[in-house]
Amino acid sequence: MTRPGSEGAPLRVAIVGAGPTGYYAADQLFRQPGLVAEVDMYDRVPTPYGLVRAGVAPDHQKIKSVTASFDKVAANPRFRFFGCVELGRHVTVEDLRKHYHMLLYTTGAQTDRRMGIPGEDLKNSHAATEFVAWYNGHPDYRQLTFDLSQERAAIVGVGNVAVDVARILSRTPAELEKTDIADYALEALRASRVREVYLLGRRGPAQAAFTNPEVKELGELADADVTAVPEEVELDDLSRAAMERASDRATQKKVDLLQEYARRAPSGKRRRLILRFLVSPVEILDNGAGAVGGMRLVRNKLYATDTGTLQPKPTGEFDDLPVGLVFRSVGYKGVPLAGVPFNDKWGVILNEKGRVLDPTSKQPVVGEYTAGWIKRGPTGVIGTNKPDAAETVACMMEDLAADRVLHPAEASREAVERLVRERQPRCFSYQDWLRLNELEVQRGKETGRPRVKFTTIEDMLAALGRR
Ligand code: NAP
Repeated sequence: MTRPGSEGAPLRVAIVGAGPTGYYAADQLFRQPGLVAEVDMYDRVPTPYGLVRAGVAPDHQKIKSVTASFDKVAANPRFRFFGCVELGRHVTVEDLRKHYHMLLYTTGAQTDRRMGIPGEDLKNSHAATEFVAWYNGHPDYRQLTFDLSQERAAIVGVGNVAVDVARILSRTPAELEKTDIADYALEALRASRVREVYLLGRRGPAQAAFTNPEVKELGELADADVTAVPEEVELDDLSRAAMERASDRATQKKVDLLQEYARRAPSGKRRRLILRFLVSPVEILDNGAGAVGGMRLVRNKLYATDTGTLQPKPTGEFDDLPVGLVFRSVGYKGVPLAGVPFNDKWGVILNEKGRVLDPTSKQPVVGEYTAGWIKRGPTGVIGTNKPDAAETVACMMEDLAADRVLHPAEASREAVERLVRERQPRCFSYQDWLRLNELEVQRGKETGRPRVKFTTIEDMLAALGRR
């Protein structure tokens, strides 16, 4: 049998998940010297770009411009997109193994981590990931509702997602109108009565996960004053010693910024954003009608673990926060794919450097790979996925050289096209996406916005003249 990868017998790869990692991997496959590869990219939603479309905040348009480089990859005639096709629903791993030499899973982390405290499931307590997907117009989340008639909201966690949620809750309608936030979210936020937004960090300012540009932006909102509690942004001895040892300038700058916020006097803006540190929610309180009525916090102190990291320890001192709306922003979590070995504890596909491992033998499963958040967990920025994808592609190339690939019976583009169209007649191609993109941008021009998104599959089909 001839080894795939030549003009006459291209290497056929299925990438499942059309986020940044999927594109980085496709790009790297196309750039391999001497290799002819055909890439089919699948996604369960009709549109590509994953979290760049459905996660990156709408007021961060510059970050979204990375999609231009993704479109260049997609312009390769050996690239195809099958949108609205879900692995485990329309096609199975077995189906794909019959049509490709290699499968690469880049599905990201699609759900949220839980806090594991009483009251987490009360009405008006939400995963931040759901709010983010909602305001970004993700078709699966657009029907959610958020009670923005509440005047006080708490966001648990101090990562960049928490900061995104805090900003979106604090922006004025005029600021939001310049973004590509979903239309229904714009309307809901226009009527929002939220006045106070708390961001809650369980450790100190030096351990906060958010990055400096994001914290700085919180101090520049048009109609929200940012503040912090002076005692909570003072460095404790352990943090000061750790920072001196590492001479960590970025962390010092972050602490300086937070201390400056604690000194700021309110300037009379309509909203207030309050950064809290060294507090952990222990319970979300019921208002008597099954909805959030407040949040009980315990104050923490830091202690050094055996490995030297600083972790929070409850002091036994409590504090009640009178909030009516809660967003849990304590990290994303990967979702298992039917038929793919998974490590439940870590929320990642079982793998070594991107090679999927058999759970029993711990040996690589021939022909199956993973990259991005579903490989390593939900950390890092978009660009972090480029070297991560490169590591996986290097393994794929090593295996190809050793002929450790699948040898599918039906290795043709036409056979896949037939299979997919039969299983999912509503499938979207890249041409469909490019047309939808044009229409969204055109709708945006009419109202001075970057785009007005289509947020239902029906609207997308109708816009394309399909049903
Ligand atoms: P993250 O950066 O991991 O932050 C999670 C936060 O939740 C941390 O503050 C963590 O505190 C806290 N936390 C975890 N469990 C908790 C608990 N049980 N109780 C209280 N707090 C808890 O995650 P993320 O914000 O979801 O972001 C995911 C990734 O996307 C990050 O790498 C982020 O930088 C990136 N991202 C980047 C941007 C941007 O560049 N603008 C925007 C959005 C997301 P501990 O540190 O104490 O664990």
